[in-house]
Amino acid sequence: MVLDKRIDGRTVLTGLIGNPVEHTVSPVIHNSLFLLMGINGVYLPLKTEETGLEAAVKGLAALGFVGFNVTIPYKEAICSLLDEVDEEVRLLGTANTVKILDGRLYGYNTDGKGFVTAFRKQTGADFAGKKVCILGAGGTARTLAIKVVQEGAGQVCIINRTVSKAVEIAGYINDTLRAGSGLREPVLSLAPDTKRTIEALNESDIIINTTSVGMYPDIGASPVDEGVDFASRPIVYDVIYNPARTRLLSMAHEKGCSIYNGAGMLFYQGIRAFEIWMDTLISDDVLQKLSTSFLKHLED
Ligand code: NAP
Repeated sequence: MVLDKRIDGRTVLTGLIGNPVEHTVSPVIHNSLFLLMGINGVYLPLKTEETGLEAAVKGLAALGFVGFNVTIPYKEAICSLLDEVDEEVRLLGTANTVKILDGRLYGYNTDGKGFVTAFRKQTGADFAGKKVCILGAGGTARTLAIKVVQEGAGQVCIINRTVSKAVEIAGYINDTLRAGSGLREPVLSLAPDTKRTIEALNESDIIINTTSVGMYPDIGASPVDEGVDFASRPIVYDVIYNPARTRLLSMAHEKGCSIYNGAGMLFYQGIRAFEIWMDTLISDDVLQKLSTSFLKHLED
């Protein structure tokens, strides 16, 4: 038989804490990166119950992990367990990446940068002066709304079923980020399917779906109704990557829009996390090889 010698006493340990973690594809990104870069390392999904979060985090530090990712539902709760956080975490209030150095925990958020990198590379466009509609007002919406304002968007609407959550994010951005930003007017918060909302969607340059509507297994659902005709032919970016083409993306494609799913965002937030843990920059050559295989893997 062939002996498996991949893990030994020097193996670099990384992983993901969250709940659930059963469907995560992050191990594919990180374990492939270790392999491609010739690093003796491993990335493990580590399902963590809420009552065990603090013990799990202390345990990872005690066991010599170099770092870990944090996913739903702990991106906010992790912040109070960290020794230091970067500017992005301070602004967003959430962390998805932790680096452990000499027993101290350093928090980062790579979701926003991952999204912006993926958006630029995939679409070839940017946000400067653009009219952006964000569907949803959960954790991802908050991160991406802040990012698109930082990237110079000219007009931003946040559209959510629970309008109070959109109001809260809009208020936070208007109070803390508007001065010195490219916003021509305050960030708007709207309920779905109103006349004003449909107008905003039909006039937009970029629509970003951050709701979970349309995600597997509920693949027939769309976060916008049939009244939206994508008149301005916006770029439509859905952060969902399963299925690869959501109902929203199909509707937008039929109207001639450019469409993109969230696989690129997932990929680049992972790349940035790996770079932070390993204190390295991943070459374009490695990125190219891995992204092609990874995106294909998600579509299979
Ligand atoms: P979250 O904080 O729970 O927010 C969920 C959002 O979806 C809320 O705005 C919620 O509206 C809305 N929503 C859920 N069910 C709905 C329904 N039936 N009708 C209308 N609105 C509904 O979740 P999150 O962490 O932001 O994640 C949101 C999505 O982003 C998930 O699909 C997740 O997989 C995806 N994501 C992708 C990446 C990536 O790398 N590609 C990264 C992070 C997240 P209410 O406020 O009204 O409840």
